Amino acid sequence: MFTKARLKLTAWYLFIIMFISFSFSAFTYRSVTLEFQRRLNVIERRFDFRGHGFRPPAGQTQFFIQDLKETRQRLLFILIYTNGVILVFSAVAGYFLSGRTLSPIEAALEEQKRFVADASHELRTPLTALKTSLEVALRDKKMSLKQAKEVLGSNLEDIDSLQSLTNNLLSLTHYQDNGRQLVFEEVDLEEIVKKAAKKILPLAKERGIDLKLEIGDHTLQANRESLEEMLLIFLDNAVKYTPKGGQVTLTTKSGKKNLIIEIKDTGIGIAERDLPHIFDRFYRVDQSRSKSKVTGFGLGLALAKRIIEIHRGSVAVSSALNKGTTFTIKLPLKHS
Ligand code: ADP
Repeated sequence: MFTKARLKLTAWYLFIIMFISFSFSAFTYRSVTLEFQRRLNVIERRFDFRGHGFRPPAGQTQFFIQDLKETRQRLLFILIYTNGVILVFSAVAGYFLSGRTLSPIEAALEEQKRFVADASHELRTPLTALKTSLEVALRDKKMSLKQAKEVLGSNLEDIDSLQSLTNNLLSLTHYQDNGRQLVFEEVDLEEIVKKAAKKILPLAKERGIDLKLEIGDHTLQANRESLEEMLLIFLDNAVKYTPKGGQVTLTTKSGKKNLIIEIKDTGIGIAERDLPHIFDRFYRVDQSRSKSKVTGFGLGLALAKRIIEIHRGSVAVSSALNKGTTFTIKLPLKHS
């Protein structure tokens, strides 16, 4: 599809360049020949016997006419030759330029395709499980009310997780255009951190994890909602991947230009080979190491990274297996 579009674009480039080149050449040829003609007329008038009282040597004007004819032909040849060179050069340059023009569009389309394929794949698995469970339940003629309620309860869990997947997918698309539609304002970091922590506290309590906040007095230019969403992702992961009795600490520091947020846990850690991939969409580390079943779709960190990029910040991670993980987020105080 893109080869065809590239050829079409090249043809358009070529058409525009050659139209300009031919018009310019025709104009040059026409004006130069007219000028020759005018000069010739002047010369003929100068040699005119009646006007100046003398006759030019026999056949002299014929020489001039011949010279001018040859010059005209040479000019025509030069113009045709130049146009030929421009045509070849423009075809090559046009093909190259159209490739460069189309390549970001092609990459974006590829990315879109991959996104839709990944998302459909992720949606298909829980949907199939849900369907199977409902079909089995429907076929079971002796099912008691208690059993039916159990099936419905488990179905509801599946639906909850599907809902969280679609919410994450929607968030990802929401932040895709570099967050141009987001409002950036002066925000109090403590207020945002406390809001995120409040949401995560019930889960931390349930899992017996101590959540510590060491927040300084900072303000920064940011988008309130996405900043909270990003902190929630890191805190949720820290709690999810830390065994009972562990600790999660969030600390903030601010420099002249940047703000540093550190989220440290004493959890299961991430193997070195997985570290380069954890921010990839749908990437999940093998969950066999975590004792409790941890649900997720591998979208959280991809989303968090996207939000950090929109804020022109960066994120780094360091981890040791069975010791813990630290995420360090750097955000500029002023949004440019
Ligand atoms: P998920 O929905 O699986 O949590 P994420 O994108 O949030 O998806 O994380 C990707 C993977 O990175 C997770 O599957 C998990 O294995 C690993 N991970 C993220 N945060 C932590 C953490 N604090 N401790 C250990 N592993 C983590």
